[in-house]
Amino acid sequence: MYSQMLCGLLVRTEVLRVGAVFASGLLRAIRFLQLHWKELARDIETGTLSAKVAEPSIRAAVAEVLEPNPELAAFVAAECGKDNWEGIITRMWPNTRYLDVIVTGAMAQYIPTLKFYSGGLPMACTMYASSECYFGLNLRPMCDPSEVSYTIMPNMGYFELMPHDPETPAAAVSRDDPPPRLVDLADAEVGKEYELVITTYAGLCRYRVGDILQVTAFHNAAPQFRFVRRKNVLLSIDSDKTDEAELQAAVERAARLLAPYGASIVEYTSEADATTIPGHYVVYWELMLKGCREALWPEAAVFERCCLEMEEALNSVYRQGRNGDAIGPLEIRVVRGGTFEEVMDYAISRGASINQYKAPRCVSFGPIIELLNSRVLSKHFSPACPKYGPPKK
Ligand code: AMP
Repeated sequence: MYSQMLCGLLVRTEVLRVGAVFASGLLRAIRFLQLHWKELARDIETGTLSAKVAEPSIRAAVAEVLEPNPELAAFVAAECGKDNWEGIITRMWPNTRYLDVIVTGAMAQYIPTLKFYSGGLPMACTMYASSECYFGLNLRPMCDPSEVSYTIMPNMGYFELMPHDPETPAAAVSRDDPPPRLVDLADAEVGKEYELVITTYAGLCRYRVGDILQVTAFHNAAPQFRFVRRKNVLLSIDSDKTDEAELQAAVERAARLLAPYGASIVEYTSEADATTIPGHYVVYWELMLKGCREALWPEAAVFERCCLEMEEALNSVYRQGRNGDAIGPLEIRVVRGGTFEEVMDYAISRGASINQYKAPRCVSFGPIIELLNSRVLSKHFSPACPKYGPPKK
């Protein structure tokens, strides 16, 4: 990362796109620049590579492009030394045309942060893929992230679709039920949701990827899909079930209350805390204050309103549970800057791949919960019950 960042700075005017597979990877690179710009500027000034880079082949490769450039070093130091990092991507790499980064699905929550650092550059979500198989391409890569559909490439594997009814909770499906009939790609119906099932050249047979997709249109005979969410990311205390998309929508709605304070949510995760009676949802937020250091941290009452706003955004079963005794008030725990980076480091130290890492949207693993809790700056609870009315017959 250090050598790549250094080379990127050396050829800053030649860089036309900036990206990573997932948005979280790009933000990690920006964070890396924040932590290491002084050392990078020193290397550029003197034309020598930091001794921290020990790999001889990398040192040899960098030596071919690195020579003393005090003017560039002064520029890097001046820009990175400013308190305000808004638009840092275009300041550092002024010819960047777009960000090449996936911001669909769970990555959508990074859009505001990326807009901030890039000064609003377009974001191209070019592909939909996994370790097991490439799935699809976005044939309109410059479209707005909210409009992205991926066209499945039928030559990448054999794709089938398991019909998914958003109205039927997983719990309602019994083991004794016959398995649902799989639908071929050509028989997909616009508007319907499906779970993707793949058979790969490498040997996976009818493997359930765990992604829920919605058919938006056809490109010739190939269906195009909007990524809806990953299955089975649930918070549940009682009979309530909250999936990733619902949690994301609730966080987005609450985040709007922070906007007037120049604060935004950099990263979040959640936990179903069953240690209290009744149990309750805990949502961990890492915040970023835009602009300058003088910006005011929102007061406790604002976070309390955010708790209630999230509850109002959750489904009716949750809100019903809150109005009875089944679920306790939702809690927001604000964690200090860099906490989610530590969570990622922890996952990587246990074998996760840095390229494929995605912040978990729900945590239940003890050491991660402990880590999050040890970084909490403040805790806030919903001050009231969310509105709930039984649906009109
Ligand atoms: P992995 O195999 O760990 O790299 O992760 C593959 C998973 O990442 C997929 O099954 C999706 O859940 C998610 N993913 C990959 N590409 C996209 C995309 N373009 N939009 C949303 N989620 C994606």
